[in-house]
Amino acid sequence: TPEHRTMLDLFAATLARSPDAVAIRYFDGVLSFADLDTRSDALAVALAERGFAAGDRLAIYTQNNPAFVIGLLAAWKAGGCAVAINPMNKARELTYLLADSGATALLCLEELYTAVARDVLAAGEVRVSTVVTCSPLDEQTRDDERLFAGATRGGAEGGALDLEQVFAEYAGRRPDPASPQGEDVAILTYTSGTTGVPKGAMNTHANLAFNAQTYRDWMGLGADDAVLGVAPLFHITGLVGHVGIALLAGCPLVLAHRFEANVVMDAIREHRPTFTVGSITVFIALSGLAGVTKEDWSSFRMLYSGGAPIAPAVTDGFEAKTGLYIHNIYGLTETNSPSHAVPLGVKAPVDPASGALSVGVPVFNTVVRILDEDGKEAPVGEIGEIVTSGPQVVPGYWQKPEATEQSLPGGELRTGDVGFMDEQGWFYLVDRKKDMINAAGYKVWPREVEDVLYGHPAVREAAVVGVPDEYRGESVKAFVSLKPGEHVTEEDLIDYARSQMAAYKYPRSIEFLDELPKTTTGKILRRELRASVT
Ligand code: ATP
Repeated sequence: TPEHRTMLDLFAATLARSPDAVAIRYFDGVLSFADLDTRSDALAVALAERGFAAGDRLAIYTQNNPAFVIGLLAAWKAGGCAVAINPMNKARELTYLLADSGATALLCLEELYTAVARDVLAAGEVRVSTVVTCSPLDEQTRDDERLFAGATRGGAEGGALDLEQVFAEYAGRRPDPASPQGEDVAILTYTSGTTGVPKGAMNTHANLAFNAQTYRDWMGLGADDAVLGVAPLFHITGLVGHVGIALLAGCPLVLAHRFEANVVMDAIREHRPTFTVGSITVFIALSGLAGVTKEDWSSFRMLYSGGAPIAPAVTDGFEAKTGLYIHNIYGLTETNSPSHAVPLGVKAPVDPASGALSVGVPVFNTVVRILDEDGKEAPVGEIGEIVTSGPQVVPGYWQKPEATEQSLPGGELRTGDVGFMDEQGWFYLVDRKKDMINAAGYKVWPREVEDVLYGHPAVREAAVVGVPDEYRGESVKAFVSLKPGEHVTEEDLIDYARSQMAAYKYPRSIEFLDELPKTTTGKILRRELRASVT
């Protein structure tokens, strides 16, 4: 039985134990757990006075900054839930998310507010009646024009409240105690999944609290640790693997407005974090910076990488440079971050046939089945769809019963990931169902081809997609970015790949790009690459 049923329970326990401990470091700013408590009380009262009531939704639309965490706590204290929104979303996307979630309140980065008021709120398609603006809270980000390119600087005009004013005006006020239950929705996180229509995964308090405890216990995190936030807080990795851990373990969360390698490296040098979890591209970017030494990495006890595949050649290269082994961790938005992880201090095996690195073993209380195309359980070693159930699996999607039934029949999550389990119980992902390439009837899994390309010393990043081919139906194409100062021709790289795999798998063409397109969580956007060639 988990020790905490809700996110407010685990925050309350930490607050009682260590009110003055550092909860957040943000550039030069520091907030204690007591600061988070009083500020979220103030915001909760301000929201409640404006009609925000039990079950209501507060949308949070900001970069990574302390206001995000205060917004989460305030939504829960006021009896509602939060809707986590990517600040890179534009008016069309934001309108959909606000309308779909039915959010009545919005916590919005001040710099984005003018455009939101003009292009979203004025159109009258959303129910938002209360807007609170927050600023990045420090001079460095305030002056960083790159962050807000295209956005008009706007103050809290047009009826919006300013968060700092809320803190001042409502100082010392406490909301009527709300007591959410484990099964209540704590956060809606939107995922496009396989269908393409964004669906709000209902991350309940029990889901989030369970997986915050999973991280803590799997990795032995405690008050002496410091978590470096490299994932965006609107994403489940940031919500559970950064905020959840800090609130539960009572340790500092080191935040930067967003992932920018040199800014994050400065934070590592200054604040000496012990743990982080992020996508592999984050580690590639940090270790590729000039002038980074092993000493810079020496505060870390462990690193975890999730959200996207890792090529073994990349973790080996990283370890040689930094002395740190990157542990793999796997999950989806719908599993509230991990369903599988590599145990701390253990090196994951590599499957000899495909060269894939294991994503680990199921975490606590998690049951995983591999189903073949007929929906039958596949024998050990055979590939099929990964189907997961456990206390971290969401009960469904917000107001989308059909999508819920499709992805979560009987409460078990159809992940859309294809993989297998070996004799020892290690799991491997082969690929995502939708990414499979069909070359003249042969199944090609992009991952395997990418892993081979990563083995070439000049290759920094690689992504493989299927392109239409009159003769084969589809053929294999690779997009590659090279390490600085390295050079290889298309022909040589194709030969390199051909020498290591069956003829139907090797890429027929390779396009070199300076940088591969990525999501804000650092995942390479294969669908964008695919769209560029079809
Ligand atoms: P969207 O649904 O918005 O398109 P997404 O499907 O990438 O985004 P997430 O829930 O963030 O949404 O990602 C989950 C997916 O990420 C998994 O289904 C899996 O394909 C991939 N993934 C996560 N962890 C790993 C890992 N360690 N190794 C390989 N792939 C991973």
